[in-house]
Amino acid sequence: MSIDTSVRSLASVQLREEILYYCRESVRCGLNFNTQGNISVRITADDGTEAIVITPSDVRYDVLRPEDMLVVAMDGTVLEGDLLPSTELPVHLAHYRRRPDARAIVHTESTFVNVLGVLGKQIDPVLLNMVLYAKGTIPVMPFEFSTNADFGRRSAELMGDAVNAVVWANHGLLAVGVSLKLAFKVAVAVEENAEVLHHATLSGGVPNVLAYDRIEIPEGARLP
Ligand SMILES: [Zn+2]
Repeated sequence: MSIDTSVRSLASVQLREEILYYCRESVRCGLNFNTQGNISVRITADDGTEAIVITPSDVRYDVLRPEDMLVVAMDGTVLEGDLLPSTELPVHLAHYRRRPDARAIVHTESTFVNVLGVLGKQIDPVLLNMVLYAKGTIPVMPFEFSTNADFGRRSAELMGDAVNAVVWANHGLLAVGVSLKLAFKVAVAVEENAEVLHHATLSGGVPNVLAYDRIEIPEGARLP
């Protein structure tokens, strides 16, 4: 399908290209392999109706095109797009319902998140970036298939309001943000933090865990 410019899409070409950019960036940054992971962004129409733009299922990122993104209503109805949406569509929708502040979701399957996830270990913030972007300790959902709305509701409930990510054991991470740029930064920060935390723990020492509400933020500092 090519974008029919005579019909105005609910999702701008710019947004579709931004999603594509972060899909490819997730592989470049080592957060995803092959066709793993998915991304969505919440959009609001002029009349206030909300929908999401989400990546299709099982399409190689090097051949993925802006017009391949799907626009899906909050009830799961596909409004635009010829391909199948990501299998985790119901989970994305559940997270958007639970967190009205979330404007974007990035799902990744990065290595060190999964190292801690398979051990059932929550990810404590030990790096500044992690505490600034993810806001706190990331909880772990026990393993199960992640393709239904009930899993999504429990995943969103476990994440709660205080932090911006949740680990799915034996699978990966779901990160939210007030923009796609910020949701992506959460995913990067959690993976980097997980790697450092893993190595620090292996060294036998006790890592210094940071708490968002206890770090002293200098006056004038620009926070995400
Ligand atoms: Zn996945």
